[in-house]
Amino acid sequence: MPLKECFDKEISYWKAVITEPIEISALDKIYILEPVDKWSVGETLFNRKYSCLEHPGCVQCCLAFHGFFQKSLLPQGVIEKIELLNHSSIIAKIKDIKIEYLIAGGATEPEFMCPLNDQETGSCPIHKFNPISCTFPLVNFRYMKRGEVSGVTFCQKTFGRNWLVQCPVEFEQCKTFEEFDAHVLWRFRKFEIYMNAIGISHRASELVEFIADEAQKFYTAKPKKKQMRNEKERKDKLDERYEGGLW
Ligand code: SF4
Ligand code: SF4
Repeated sequence: MPLKECFDKEISYWKAVITEPIEISALDKIYILEPVDKWSVGETLFNRKYSCLEHPGCVQCCLAFHGFFQKSLLPQGVIEKIELLNHSSIIAKIKDIKIEYLIAGGATEPEFMCPLNDQETGSCPIHKFNPISCTFPLVNFRYMKRGEVSGVTFCQKTFGRNWLVQCPVEFEQCKTFEEFDAHVLWRFRKFEIYMNAIGISHRASELVEFIADEAQKFYTAKPKKKQMRNEKERKDKLDERYEGGLW
């Protein structure tokens, strides 16, 4: 995938949390991002507990993709590792803010594989620090506009970052808030750290709270739904008895 498209993906996440329009210049391109008016959560966000690291060898999302690593967030050891891998870097500018990204992987490699993937274990050794687009391969920020109102829905999809390749893994559902927290919510916390490092005004911490609240509602609503179903079953039974002339 071309370098620019990979960077488009990286900054597509910013739009969900910026508080004012921004202009980013990077890779000889000007990106103009407008904040969105509304957030919502799709039920599919709770559908999968997942960590790609639990499925070593699945590298579908690492194929043909350039990783953009915000340098200020990387431990020295990781910087050295990337620098050993024929890395290049870019500077993204927003007014007087400059953000340095190290780039690894992409189409320069013979097998189109991100070189940070450990060939022996088939896993990513720097998962905690990897690009934000590697954090959200199945979590989707779906942007839409209805009339004058723009919004983003946070959901999960079954396709990884390489759009044409369906994720082959059968994931379990997050059954509790704690599972959701450990498998999905942490990704949004990492996003907050990532946005803090950029140095622009943003609402990522609010987004973490929003997602957590929606998850709490989802997990506490379940018994209610069950109760409602029970209520309905009880009523259906009563109706049956009535129809059967038992009254
Ligand atoms: S940084 Fe890790 S997860 Fe991201 S593309 Fe490279 S190997 Fe894959
Ligand atoms: S295809 Fe699925 S398991 Fe494989 S790297 Fe992508 S999201 Fe992870």
